[in-house]
Amino acid sequence: MPKHYLIANWKMNRPPEGADQFVEKVRAAAPDPATTVVIAPPFPFIAQVAASLRGSPVRIGGQSCSTESRGALTGEVSAAMLRDCGATCVLVGHSERRTLFGETNEIVARKLTAVAEASLVPVLCVGESADIRDRGEVVQFLHEQIASAAGSLGDSDEIVLAYEPIWAIGTGRNATPSMIAATVGPIREAVRASWPERMASNLSILYGGSVTPENIDSLWSTGAIDGFLVGGASLDSGRFLSILDGMRDRRVQAGTGS
Ligand code: PEP
Repeated sequence: MPKHYLIANWKMNRPPEGADQFVEKVRAAAPDPATTVVIAPPFPFIAQVAASLRGSPVRIGGQSCSTESRGALTGEVSAAMLRDCGATCVLVGHSERRTLFGETNEIVARKLTAVAEASLVPVLCVGESADIRDRGEVVQFLHEQIASAAGSLGDSDEIVLAYEPIWAIGTGRNATPSMIAATVGPIREAVRASWPERMASNLSILYGGSVTPENIDSLWSTGAIDGFLVGGASLDSGRFLSILDGMRDRRVQAGTGS
């Protein structure tokens, strides 16, 4: 069964309230046993955030990692180093890495191998640009992103895929619930067609792109996704926790969990 996730991607930002304050609020909030909450801070904060969360079910994620495990690669951080600092998962192929730092599907695949070798959970990010959507090529584009990852996922049972349309990230323009539902179907088909069956059935599919406490209800109501990857709204503990509350409330209303 796919797990539910809520992931905070701080990108290259500190929460205005301060990392310690943010973490304290998230730690003190009522837990939602049905949702795995992850905070992905910039690299220098990972060990600090992990120490503050010791004993809590909230997990730590890296925002990226090197394709390599060691070497003369100034500025790079290996997946094993993230793990040793307390991370349990890593975002791979975020659209900002793909568009601003030239990460191709091939590089993403090598990073996925590095993540698997470090026994971390990959959060593979996929998503189309506005041009691709306008040209009606979304399904084919996502299929290529998904198929190219197939041989690099190791033998983990826990794999997360985040569908993040590029045009929705940080723009305040979220995909509509019907668009999400219409895209997640072909994503699951592409996964079933190219990944081992065991991975396909356990795969959690998240949506990311201008998720806020204001739109969480309609996004979550699609029933097509297993959680959210949140950028801007994850920098404020109050807003981040309202998204978590929205997920829980909707599940309670639907009678599908605590
Ligand atoms: C993201 O960074 O993955 C993201 C979805 O950002 P935002 O929520 O700000 O659109």
